[in-house]
Amino acid sequence: MTSCSDIPLTDCHVHIHSVEAVGRLGALMERCGVAAVNVAALPKFSFVENAFGILAKALYPGRVYYFGALDYSEPGALAGKVDFAKQAERLLALGADGLKMLEGKPDLRKQTGIALNSPFYDSFYSYLQANGIPLLFHVADPVTFWDPEKVSDKVRELGWFWGDGEHLSKDALHAEVDGLLKKFPNLQIIFSHFYFQSTDIEKAAAILDAHPNVNYDITPGVHFSHFAKALKPWAAFFATYSDRIFFGSDNSPGDEERLERCRKKVNETIRPFLEDAETGFGLERDALERIYGGNFKRLAGERPKKLRLDLAVDACAQFMERADGKAELANDLEAIVRIVQKLTAR
Ligand SMILES: [Zn+2]
Repeated sequence: MTSCSDIPLTDCHVHIHSVEAVGRLGALMERCGVAAVNVAALPKFSFVENAFGILAKALYPGRVYYFGALDYSEPGALAGKVDFAKQAERLLALGADGLKMLEGKPDLRKQTGIALNSPFYDSFYSYLQANGIPLLFHVADPVTFWDPEKVSDKVRELGWFWGDGEHLSKDALHAEVDGLLKKFPNLQIIFSHFYFQSTDIEKAAAILDAHPNVNYDITPGVHFSHFAKALKPWAAFFATYSDRIFFGSDNSPGDEERLERCRKKVNETIRPFLEDAETGFGLERDALERIYGGNFKRLAGERPKKLRLDLAVDACAQFMERADGKAELANDLEAIVRIVQKLTAR
């Protein structure tokens, strides 16, 4: 294990949900022994998570990548009247390193009402594909989330039970993705949480074989428990596809207790699983180097893009105008006002 501790880690899947949390990001990186992070913004029908990513870039230059989220608060967005390619272009111009979509999670998919392969998104995917921009994409969830017998109480409490007839099935979501991959075969996609394919190793491999630009991140969910049940085959899978697998944690900065949970996830769960030959995969150093950051840098750049402060402040100001007087956006507006103050005071 110790022979790999010097490999620099890039965590491709970190979230920030408040202005305060941005200030704790440095502590998170230090605690987890992570050299760089990718802040994955979530849509939230707002610009606010983009602003957290922007502020994170400003506070920790050179260490923070940020994948932007589409903003459905723009009038007409849900009716196909907004050109999402334009939104992406603006985010990339201000310094985003890629895009993040959570739109394939069943609740959000229901909320937008937009199929993942809808023509509404065509110009957006096309723009990403043409410019080699990576997309971190959450599609579906573990299969137990649809199963009334097997879903856990915790998942029900989170409101993530999808077997109520109100949400698309896992197969239906995957079928939408198949449609989009057919239209945009060169789109660089990292599917979060192993694309929830850890129950079927053959299928997991077939997807990667059929789609050379599709990748998986290993951000925890349930898959480590599935890997543990078939260690040897999965170890071979990881060795074979080590150029298609990305290290991620879903960590988000917070108080001391949270930081400690994050440290444990990285250093006591994920890393030993990949590195330890006795209890996990015991992957070779060069495979680990790819998974721990090489693959991500190949797609997102050797270093994070520089923030264009003027464009970032402009984008925040546009949202502020749109949010003005809207009760449902009041908290986000307040957060963005504080962020702009911090950005311009520097
Ligand atoms: Zn996540």
